[in-house]
Amino acid sequence: MVNQNIPKLLVIFPCYNEEKILTNSIQKFFDFFDSLLAGNYIAKESRICFVDDGSSDNTWKIISSLDDYRVNAIKLSNNFGHQKALLAGMETFNNQFDAYVTLDVDLQDDFRVIIDMLEKYQQGCDIVYGVRDDRSSDSFFKRKSAQKFYSFMEFLGVKTIVNHADFRLINNKALNSFLNFQETHLFLRAIFPAIGLEYALVYYKRLKREEGESKYPLKKMASFAGDGITSFSVKPLRFILITGLFSTLLSILFFSWALIQLLLGNVIQGWFSVIATIMFFGGIQTFAIGIIGEYIGKIFLQVKNRPRYLIAEKIIR
Ligand code: UDP
Ligand code: MG
Repeated sequence: MVNQNIPKLLVIFPCYNEEKILTNSIQKFFDFFDSLLAGNYIAKESRICFVDDGSSDNTWKIISSLDDYRVNAIKLSNNFGHQKALLAGMETFNNQFDAYVTLDVDLQDDFRVIIDMLEKYQQGCDIVYGVRDDRSSDSFFKRKSAQKFYSFMEFLGVKTIVNHADFRLINNKALNSFLNFQETHLFLRAIFPAIGLEYALVYYKRLKREEGESKYPLKKMASFAGDGITSFSVKPLRFILITGLFSTLLSILFFSWALIQLLLGNVIQGWFSVIATIMFFGGIQTFAIGIIGEYIGKIFLQVKNRPRYLIAEKIIR
């Protein structure tokens, strides 16, 4: 790589109950990290930071026993979630490095593209997004649901990078912009595109998780997606408004028709139509209240202004 100012890089790994995979991942990544140093892609002050997101297994034991000058470690006091673990890592080292890469510790995202990311960084990009151009290792359901999610976000007018998760490189400009986003419900993959700045994409093949299980089972994935939607768009509220208007119009039409029938002396029969209408509108109303409730819940959690994570221990070298 031809360059005068080699960046000081920090690679942040969020870890939650990853004892099964950690030792192997560390070994693999350290070899790669050394090759980056040897190839002068990164400065010798570059570091790796593990953020233990309140694991209940031996994750912290493994991380804290790493007696290695390259390793920094943060232990959160509880399980705050993947997004907040990433925030903790980035915020702790804000302005102390030139570039920051976030990467899942199961190494499903091919770390070798960090070289391409660094190249884009050198060319002046503030954010470089890792994009999965081959997701054949993900289940059919995960691929399809992700695809639907991205197109729904687009329909709502929320900017996301299709097939990008949280594997990205940012510089200090992007990091400082990001730290201005004070929301409780973090959804980084829509926050960074909302920042704007200069960005680029790099592509890779998503690999299979080799050990341990995904921390995003269906329920958590659905709630994460729901959080993304309600954190970034108020269009679902507008949808309720339109549904309400539409059903009011419908009921006026129906009422006029019924009145005419009555005046003509025709008897309108049946409890079935009454029950069906009550159930239909009951359903719509409950659904609408549920959506409004989601937003109120978010406001409630936001106004409490609680810390988004708490650090129990830090090892900084
Ligand atoms: N993770 C975390 N806190 C959590 C859940 C997950 O720090 O509450 C970490 C996890 O250890 C991994 C990354 O976030 O490094 C992504 O999780 P996972 O691989 O289970 O997600 P998937 O790849 O299945 O979407
Ligand atoms: Mg994974």
